[in-house]
Amino acid sequence: MRGAVLYGPRDVRFEEVAAPAIIKPTDAIIRMSATCVCGSDLWPYRGANPVNQPTPMGHEYCGIVEEVGRAVTSVKPGHFVIGSFFASDNTCPNCLAGYHSSCQHRELVGGAQAPLLRVPLADGTLVATPVVPSDDLLPSLLTLSDVMGTGWFAAEAANVQPGKTVAVVGDGAVGLLAVLSAKQMGAGRIIAMSRHESRQKLALEFGATEIVTERGDEGVARIKELTKDIGADSVLECVGTQESMMQAILSTRPGGSVAYVGAPHGVELKGEELFYTHVRLHGGPAPVRRFLPNLVELVLKGKINPGKVFDLTLPLDNVSEAYRAMDERRAIKSLLHP
Ligand SMILES: [Zn+2]
Repeated sequence: MRGAVLYGPRDVRFEEVAAPAIIKPTDAIIRMSATCVCGSDLWPYRGANPVNQPTPMGHEYCGIVEEVGRAVTSVKPGHFVIGSFFASDNTCPNCLAGYHSSCQHRELVGGAQAPLLRVPLADGTLVATPVVPSDDLLPSLLTLSDVMGTGWFAAEAANVQPGKTVAVVGDGAVGLLAVLSAKQMGAGRIIAMSRHESRQKLALEFGATEIVTERGDEGVARIKELTKDIGADSVLECVGTQESMMQAILSTRPGGSVAYVGAPHGVELKGEELFYTHVRLHGGPAPVRRFLPNLVELVLKGKINPGKVFDLTLPLDNVSEAYRAMDERRAIKSLLHP
């Protein structure tokens, strides 16, 4: 089969790779119905993370089970399934506490930008839909594999409460779906921080009530202005840079909560400065698996349509353009059809 392989900065190739096979009895092989490029794929693509060897890319997936190992009991060939980018057993103490992305047996799922994918710990990782969904639902179901679950975790980790004020830092797909999540959780005001018109439009569609175009210190000042000089109750950091992290922390009221779900790159916090902000911090790789059953139901019932973040759809063999369009911010998120 052919799949996406990253060789170095801005050098992603669609080339012959070995088809995955069952290695452990707990594995499943799935045939991809749709896959996509993640904002976090752009870090190595841009050279921010070193690429030491040609690396198969992609970790967002949904599709039809093709084959299962002899120990797998919860999914069968023919089932439509979605799973997280971290495989998890769903039985260890960390999974039972809801932190599947810290599972004691977690394994990164990789190589999803290809027609076939091996998913470890299939019983714990994969969630099957009651019936094979229609094609129009695929984009929204695919987002549940990472980006929607990450936005949801941001809202939950920042303790979004009905009627309260939320600010979202970052207008990538995660930031936009964090807006949607905050809306679902009943936030009163949702301030989206974005300076791109197409993204502002989608943020408003997902439930943002205000847009702030300033960033950094000016962005903080604007949030203060909008909140009677207090700050937002919950701030969702969905970027991962020093500037975005400080913007989030300083936009939060004393006693408020910051969630950080953007993979940090070069972020350093000063203890004393943090001490006097009086904010709660919680974040990390989203335990997407915990949210899957609920989010699948919301999509199947038509309550949420997170698939709207895909503004570019390409055949898988054009994966290099999918990366380029996101790198150049011509696309929010690229969906790929095998
Ligand atoms: Zn576990």
